[in-house]
Amino acid sequence: MALPPPHPQQPQYVSVLSEWQKRRNRWNEKYHADRAVLVEALGGKCKCCGATERLEFHHTEPRTWCARDHNRRQRLRLYLIDLQNGALQLLCKRCNRMAGEPSSHATDFDDDEPPF
Ligand SMILES: [Zn+2]
Repeated sequence: MALPPPHPQQPQYVSVLSEWQKRRNRWNEKYHADRAVLVEALGGKCKCCGATERLEFHHTEPRTWCARDHNRRQRLRLYLIDLQNGALQLLCKRCNRMAGEPSSHATDFDDDEPPF
């Protein structure tokens, strides 16, 4: 999103914007840290070919929730529950596509924004 340049008589606009950026960065850092924990818990590599990059979460059973209804952080919590139920595997992007249902199993879309 392109924001208009700050008005010269509104210097506080800049600090509001930078505070928003900081919150956004913290939110992203927390997400990636939590995701790394989940990836580690699943062995840190593709269950099929052993790749360690472009990893995605794959459901071995149809999941009961719709990914599009949740933001990334909420989805991580749901993945954790699925992991505890033994219904989650780690696959690389390529193997996940070959496992089928690419759109419903793709988990790392970056189209959602932090909740503020
Ligand atoms: Zn793979």
